[in-house]
Amino acid sequence: MPTVLEDCGKAGVKYAIVHTAGFKEVGEEGLKLEKQIVEIAHKYGMRIYGPNSQGIQNSDPEVSVYANFTFVPMKPGNISIVAQSGGVGETLKLHLHRIGMGMRMYASFGNEADVSMNEIIDYYGQDDETKVIMVHIETIKDPAGFLEVANRVTRKKPILVVKTGRTKEGVTAVASHTGSLMEQDTLADAIFEKSGVLRFDSQQEMIDAAIALSTQPVPKSENIVIVTNTGGPGIIAVDECISAGLKLAKLSPETGKALGELLFSEAIVSNPVDVIATAGAKEYGGTVEALLKDPNIDSLILNFVTPPFVDCEAVAQKLGEIGAAAEKPIICIILTIEERWGEVIRVIRKSGIPVFDFAESASKALAAMIKYGKIQRREAPDYPKYDCDKKKADEIIGRYRGQERFLPQADVFDLLHTYGIPAVKTVRVEDKSQLKKAAGALTYPLVLKVDAEEVVHKSDAGGVCLNLKDEKALLAEFDRMASEFKKYKPGFVVQEQQTEGKEVILGAKDSPGVGPMLMFGLGGVFVETLKDVQFRLAPLSKQDAAGMIESIKGYPILKGTRGEKPADVECLVEMLGRLAQLTVDFPEIDEMDLNPVFVFETKKGARVVDARLKVKKPE
Ligand code: ADP
Ligand code: MG
Repeated sequence: MPTVLEDCGKAGVKYAIVHTAGFKEVGEEGLKLEKQIVEIAHKYGMRIYGPNSQGIQNSDPEVSVYANFTFVPMKPGNISIVAQSGGVGETLKLHLHRIGMGMRMYASFGNEADVSMNEIIDYYGQDDETKVIMVHIETIKDPAGFLEVANRVTRKKPILVVKTGRTKEGVTAVASHTGSLMEQDTLADAIFEKSGVLRFDSQQEMIDAAIALSTQPVPKSENIVIVTNTGGPGIIAVDECISAGLKLAKLSPETGKALGELLFSEAIVSNPVDVIATAGAKEYGGTVEALLKDPNIDSLILNFVTPPFVDCEAVAQKLGEIGAAAEKPIICIILTIEERWGEVIRVIRKSGIPVFDFAESASKALAAMIKYGKIQRREAPDYPKYDCDKKKADEIIGRYRGQERFLPQADVFDLLHTYGIPAVKTVRVEDKSQLKKAAGALTYPLVLKVDAEEVVHKSDAGGVCLNLKDEKALLAEFDRMASEFKKYKPGFVVQEQQTEGKEVILGAKDSPGVGPMLMFGLGGVFVETLKDVQFRLAPLSKQDAAGMIESIKGYPILKGTRGEKPADVECLVEMLGRLAQLTVDFPEIDEMDLNPVFVFETKKGARVVDARLKVKKPE
């Protein structure tokens, strides 16, 4: 291999696609060889694509490249595919080929030794003929680069992703909740969320959405209408659409009137519109035309069963004509026997309307389109800049800079103070002589906690004592803890006892390359057992923070159920924003847990009760 590349370099070759396997993927020796071929290539100004790669295809008639070694041909189209696995890539191509769809470009990049996935996505983004990008990812080699490229490209065109590796194998063993809840895949999700990439669980769902997005305009809102000539599938479509967050539009009075005049008396003129099985081209087509004119409606799902007593080809012809000229997206579900009514499917597809077999697939595809519409319309985020005492914060963190350790709790509380994050009054005490003075500045009942680096989960170790009513109780408890934790030579903190609010957790964890990832969830058992938490990459806009809070399953608990007053979510939004700012300002913060934070009723704020912070050595 090295000699071949040397020869290529000398001959002035600019790009080499290396299909050959036996590099990084086989171990140490392979990795060495891989580095060597990249070095050789760069010496001659040559780029390497691969190795261990399946290659590329380009269907542009002006280019027409087949530098690949599999069997699925590509006719011109507007979907481009980049797949880490050639096998997955071929599966996607095969499906498009089977239904007669074209494709624009294809790339399966293998080991990514030189030319990267991010560069390929960037290139597809700049290619005017590519309308939709489908991506299969196993690992994101350069998350920061991906974030930057995807952010740019998704403003212009949708990026659809299937990422494998959802399982828990990537969990890192860390002491904080934020760290251990952050499975490897969470980072990918946060990157996709931030950059507006649409992630799918299955190849099938991704491809359905790609087909719809590549053939139809992007919906302007979530207001849809469903038209059917048979009951059941229409209802499934309703269920699917509603659970995907779409809305059944209310037909305008004009539409209602037009359909009332057009359709048979048994028809149902509401949403879903049931034109009934006897509807022919005039009735079905006329209905779609009327609905397209309705300003309350932004996309249409048509369910069509081919009844033997109707001229189905005529219906298809009519729908095709309407679909080709429509400015709102239309998606079709056709239930038929291809041997008899194959023409119906062909005619409709030819007009550009995507055709699906199941109401579920059509509804999910439309939901993905609507989600992309929202992403495309979203305003550039406005990151708030909170007033903070950065200098003081730097002094505190500076004491531990260069070490890898948890900070004493009192320092963490001081730090929270410098960034305006409200916390319960906390005083550090080294020995008994300081206890009285500390207590004097606080109001009983008090809480005593051990403060030692070795005791990470304090209450498990008997290091938290609540509800100390007077000095006598405080002193007695101090003696007990001092003797119990003697071997750690600990300090202590005394806190005011906080009247109980709802317990939530706020956290942050540094992710190499992309910076801090913020976490929000309900505290206590909800964190431990249900893992009901949300992650977002910093910085956080107010919408990001509010979105995190609203996305947890337990959100109704915060909103208040059964006459309970709602919690002060506004305060939590600001706390998350301030925490994000703190962790962005100080990259040496490895992980941080505010657990629990007590949140009170609206306008009454929230308070951090326990805080943990670990700094790391500079890389
Ligand atoms: P750890 O998480 O290390 O076990 P915490 O400081 O979180 O220790 O204390 C354990 C629990 O005790 C908290 O989850 C909270 O319910 C309660 N608690 C701790 N400090 C206070 C306080 N100042 N006021 C009221 N409750 C508290
Ligand atoms: Mg705690």
